Amino acid sequence: MNQGPPETAYTAEQIRETVERILEAGALPPIVQAGHPVLRQRAAAFDGQLSDDQLGRLITLMRQVMHEAPGVGLAAPQLGIPLQLAVVEDQFDVDPEAAALRHRSPLDFLAVLNPRYTPLGHGLASFYEGCLSLNGLQAVVARYENVLFEFQTPDGARMQREFSGWQARIVQHETDHLNGVLYVDRAQLRSLSTNAEYAAHWAEPGIGKAQLGLGFDDGIAGISLH
Ligand code: ZN
Repeated sequence: MNQGPPETAYTAEQIRETVERILEAGALPPIVQAGHPVLRQRAAAFDGQLSDDQLGRLITLMRQVMHEAPGVGLAAPQLGIPLQLAVVEDQFDVDPEAAALRHRSPLDFLAVLNPRYTPLGHGLASFYEGCLSLNGLQAVVARYENVLFEFQTPDGARMQREFSGWQARIVQHETDHLNGVLYVDRAQLRSLSTNAEYAAHWAEPGIGKAQLGLGFDDGIAGISLH
């Protein structure tokens, strides 16, 4: 029986020790890959387990790892840290046609703690997405087109922001990580492609060609909005 993602068993002390070890390593940490239990657990809510200094240094490191990967988001569990912390930023130069169809516009850097999202309206969009923890793969995922995103900033302020389009996709993907959910859980699995096969056959702004060629629907009918 599916019990859903288990809670992390890490204590505050274990989280602190894990972060200290990563910060003191002197090199960028590897990104944890699918199959590691930390990616399948609910991360601990941030409630002061780290000092302001540790948190600030960890956020800086996560931003470096995200840039180096490169990616548009990184969640703390992807570094083996079961804490509700994620960073997002999208400054990539995107083909204008793809940017228009995907409603993708630049997203300034943002570090969030204890985030959650709520759909605004019933709009859904289906596009290929990937994950740094499922290296070399991508699949089509239906995501809410508009969400209300609630989170805490590193200095403790509670914030609400509305996101739409690709930005909404990014914050949904990263928040899912903190709840033990990977994009493949929500994907049309018949769309699953290596990056090389995607580039060879399905690299276009939309998913229509891949839908016909691989035989999958857009996944939108399968999502319950209730
Ligand atoms: Zn991911």
